[in-house]
Amino acid sequence: MRFLTADYLYPLYKAPIKEGVLQISNKGEIIRIFENRSDVSAEKLEIFKGVLCPGFVNAHCHLELSHLLGIAEKGKGFIDFVSSSIHKRNDFTKEEILEAIEKAEQEMIANGIVAVGDICNTVDTLLQKQKGNLHYYNFIEAVGVYETEVESTISSNLAIRNQFRKCGLQATVVPHAPYSCVPQLLDKISVISDKFDKTFTFHNQEIAAENELFTSQSGAMFDWLNKIGATKTIWENRNKNSTKAVLEHFKINKPLLLVHNTFTKKKDVTDNYYCTCPKANLYIENTLPDYSIFDTEKLCVGTDSLASNDSLSILEELLIIQENSNFDMNTLLKIASKNGAEALGFSELGTFEKGKIPGVNLIQALEKVEVIA
Ligand SMILES: [Zn+2]
Repeated sequence: MRFLTADYLYPLYKAPIKEGVLQISNKGEIIRIFENRSDVSAEKLEIFKGVLCPGFVNAHCHLELSHLLGIAEKGKGFIDFVSSSIHKRNDFTKEEILEAIEKAEQEMIANGIVAVGDICNTVDTLLQKQKGNLHYYNFIEAVGVYETEVESTISSNLAIRNQFRKCGLQATVVPHAPYSCVPQLLDKISVISDKFDKTFTFHNQEIAAENELFTSQSGAMFDWLNKIGATKTIWENRNKNSTKAVLEHFKINKPLLLVHNTFTKKKDVTDNYYCTCPKANLYIENTLPDYSIFDTEKLCVGTDSLASNDSLSILEELLIIQENSNFDMNTLLKIASKNGAEALGFSELGTFEKGKIPGVNLIQALEKVEVIA
């Protein structure tokens, strides 16, 4: 049994407690919160400087792209990022890819992350995830801009999903983004969903060109899709709002996490969960979302991949959010832990409620995180 206390305790399901004490079992289960240090005998207390909060949830990552660290040039824009960097993902040996995955996971653990919403196009991360070092929700990403390839896309996605599930890991097929899935593919993803799917996600309004494609059938994304001969049903006779264009085909009554939202306006916001990846947005588009438009009970944070970030640290993401919003510490920590755990369905994580095993982080001045339990 351990009794942890710091300047402030952030249980996240209730208000912060000055010099509160957190009692945890040796395996990290929350037993009880004491409002005062005097409620616990002094020799039992482990006293820290700073604040104690639950382990972080990285709501959006692509662990399998970890070997692409430093490959993309900063600030060149999204279309350049995809066409010049992501296609290099196969220019590496299997050993290099697996080594980068392991190293990236270690980095997340050292940075106080306990769970990850992870996008997968392959089974490259399967071996690492089976070690059970972190909780993962695996989102198997469907991309399909050609009507003729819907069936083959879905069957390869299902094969990947089933490999994850066979290893006891949570996995769900999800759309990549509004501009990269023909409507038939979205319909099909809804049809194949089953009772094991707890939550869904897609990349949303990451670039201005996505909005232009739907509002005015023009712009860089429109030109690019035309160049590669994409099926026109992606933009023809669709809702003028890209998020709604997806949701009209995707009527699943389960939590949904919309990722990036860099070009989302207040009028676009739905009652779904929203995830921000500020460092990746700065890396690629040099833009940030307008944080004033989101419901802070439903806003989560992710690192995105090392292809578009130089670290996998929720704390570093929080610093950018703090500089660009009026969120207080309690709100920032909810975004970092509680909201992501809820969106991804990790009921044992995210707060210091009795019975949970959320991990315990010590933070000093939002600059350094230390894993305490
Ligand atoms: Zn992503």
